[in-house]
Amino acid sequence: MNPGTAPLGVTAVIAAAGSGERLGAGGPKAFVPLAGRPMVEWSLDAFRAAGMAAIVVACPPGHSREFDASGDAGLRLVDGGATRSESVASALAAVETELVAIHDAARPLVTPALIGEVIATLAADPGAAGAIPATPVTDTIKLADRRLLVGRTLDRDGLWAAQTPQVFRTEALRGALAADPAPTLAATDEAMLVEAAGGRVLIYPAPAENIKVTTPLDLRLAELLLAERAAG
Ligand code: C5P
Repeated sequence: MNPGTAPLGVTAVIAAAGSGERLGAGGPKAFVPLAGRPMVEWSLDAFRAAGMAAIVVACPPGHSREFDASGDAGLRLVDGGATRSESVASALAAVETELVAIHDAARPLVTPALIGEVIATLAADPGAAGAIPATPVTDTIKLADRRLLVGRTLDRDGLWAAQTPQVFRTEALRGALAADPAPTLAATDEAMLVEAAGGRVLIYPAPAENIKVTTPLDLRLAELLLAERAAG
């Protein structure tokens, strides 16, 4: 699907309420300057260009004023929670469309094309509850205990690293969040809740460039990739 042609009926939820501790920037990660703008603004641009019906941003409590939402009738700001699931649940309460795309503000390299492809993957399979972008794992993955003793090596064949935006049928995600037995434990993505509730989740093979900014090294890489994009 091309940018700007996503069907009406999709709301974007941008999870932006994380503390950004690992980045060490002294404030919430979503507002850390990246290529001259707060990080979250890059994701907002991509979702606006992808033609969302509405966009809801879960902000760190007390930080919504740092956000320039003026002049954007389709944008809603809500206070996030202590965990990612709580932030998503509070934004989900404001969603009225059939589909919802959950995105990390920490993935500023997302493109309108990727958003459209993940939506199209879900739309093409009426029996699926969700679709997620992911890349095949290239490292060999070890399962180790706290003493750093390797227990075993996972079979790399069939392992995928999940990204966002993760697109769901809104009712399926609502049901999965409600069924989560331990909402205060950190679910690291929404697909794991939908899978646990028995929903079918599809993978769209995504570009590795859609990185997640967690460390200062990721921030440098994101700056370089955005500069490369700007240079055409
Ligand atoms: O901490 P991590 O980088 O895994 O967070 C992923 C995304 O979830 C980030 O965009 C972060 O802002 C968001 N998040 C949130 N509410 C929390 C914790 C994380 O919206 N309580």
